[in-house]
Amino acid sequence: MHVKRYKTILSPKNGLNLYRGCTHGCIYCDSRSRCYQMTHDFEDIEVKEDAIAILRQQLLKKRRPCMIATGAMTDPYLHGEKQLRLTRQSLELVAELGFGVTLLTKSDRILEDLPLLQEINRETKAVVQVTLTCAEDALSRKIEPRVSVTSERVKVLAACREAGIPTVVWLCPILPFINDTPENISRLLAICAAAGVKGVICFGFGLTLREGNREYFYRQLERLFPGMKERYIYHFGDRYDCRSPRDAELTELFHHSCEQQGLWHDNHQLFAYLQQFESRHQQLSLF
Ligand code: SF4
Repeated sequence: MHVKRYKTILSPKNGLNLYRGCTHGCIYCDSRSRCYQMTHDFEDIEVKEDAIAILRQQLLKKRRPCMIATGAMTDPYLHGEKQLRLTRQSLELVAELGFGVTLLTKSDRILEDLPLLQEINRETKAVVQVTLTCAEDALSRKIEPRVSVTSERVKVLAACREAGIPTVVWLCPILPFINDTPENISRLLAICAAAGVKGVICFGFGLTLREGNREYFYRQLERLFPGMKERYIYHFGDRYDCRSPRDAELTELFHHSCEQQGLWHDNHQLFAYLQQFESRHQQLSLF
């Protein structure tokens, strides 16, 4: 872990990036790609110096409160968060200044911040987003080795429901020849419905590979799934978009199953929902 000075913590679209790099070890991680120009080892986490003070300045400059989103590039609950508490402190700031928040994670460490998320959700809006890829814990442990397995993430969804915090699931990536089965997708959607998830974000069935993440992914395939690297090279060459041969079948299953179970499945609708700031006081004053 090392510290670096940054001028900003919030992106122009209100994405919050407290750390660079990640310790969760997902074999397919796109954030390893060279295009992100990381100059340090991916596991050597870069911690942004004075992140919370800079975030405060940036939030205070906003003309009106909005949704702050974190988790797109790095899981906000990586291992160092236990000591550093930067995600916790940023949530405290969001609560203090009356903003809304949404977090995307694969870690059940978020449960420690549930009371704070509840507090934010009482005043404005907090949404928890969880990634699910494998119905079976054993496969989840294999491809996402250092983060909560699926059953632990399902407990996060259940706890959020109990706490009145809305949830959204990301169903991606689905790796060709590994977790791209109708059984896996059906089971995951049933889990989402049972957990009262609002909707499921899905970009089709496959994964993206480019310089940086491809090399890492192939090394992990060689180690974990003998013969699979050769299968990928045969089917996809050096393509960026590696679609499952079952993409069409799974896409139909996905939309049909979501529709039947009352899960939102339109990405535009879901992203609009995640970006829509809501103040409970404004809502009450309408009445
Ligand atoms: S949790 Fe996200 S950022 Fe971290 S290794 Fe996995 S995919 Fe990459």
